[in-house]
Amino acid sequence: MVSMNFIDAHCHLDFPELIGQIDAVLAAMREARVTHALTVGTNPATYPELNAMINRYPNLYGAVGLHPEEKDLPECSVEALCALAQYPKTVAIGETGLDFYHVPERAAWQKDRFRAHIRAARLVKKPLVIHTRDAAYETLAILREERADEVGGMMHCFTENRAIAEEALALNFYISFSGVVTFKNARDVHEAAKHVPLDRLLIETDSPFLTPAPHRGHFPNTPAHVVHVAEALSRLRDESLDRIARATSENFFRLFKV
Ligand SMILES: [Zn+2]
Ligand SMILES: [Zn+2]
Repeated sequence: MVSMNFIDAHCHLDFPELIGQIDAVLAAMREARVTHALTVGTNPATYPELNAMINRYPNLYGAVGLHPEEKDLPECSVEALCALAQYPKTVAIGETGLDFYHVPERAAWQKDRFRAHIRAARLVKKPLVIHTRDAAYETLAILREERADEVGGMMHCFTENRAIAEEALALNFYISFSGVVTFKNARDVHEAAKHVPLDRLLIETDSPFLTPAPHRGHFPNTPAHVVHVAEALSRLRDESLDRIARATSENFFRLFKV
């Protein structure tokens, strides 16, 4: 009997819904054989608290960034991001990127913030955690202009099509699938998931959001549910669950150098 292990490459364990029951969240992870999780920062001002949490648990890692949807928080300089990235167990810069869903005017402040994160990542030589929504071409253009391929990273919660995935792969990025890939109507995402090379594939929950089928709609989502994302990839790609589990774990360790 092969024992399969899974890794959640993107979640938010510092959000109140999860940190308030962190022991239960970690116990559910152990039970589901989810061995590690990357808990991703959205506000540099509270990153020291996130870092204190991950330092209590050997199987948690962190990323530091100011989320593109955070309109009202103060900006974070390249220097400040670099300083926070030196915290122990901080393996990436993000989440960062562009989100024009709620900010349809394609705001300059989002682009400036995104560029600052890429510059910080290149300075500290750590990979990027990219969030993109309704902004795929602008996101790829800035990744190219700022030479993000020097550090690479992950396209988190990938909801674009196969052509966008190919462009991100060419820029040295991994493609991370979330619960969205378990949704029946996500045809473009399914098509992309079939074609990402096995050695560039990651799985994530983005918990507390985006609970995968068959638990869709439940809140909060937790890292234990990443197994359902792996199962969806196994079905779509016609590869064994063991193969998906093994490859996505190896990819995580390679990308984040842990
Ligand atoms: Zn995101
Ligand atoms: Zn996220």
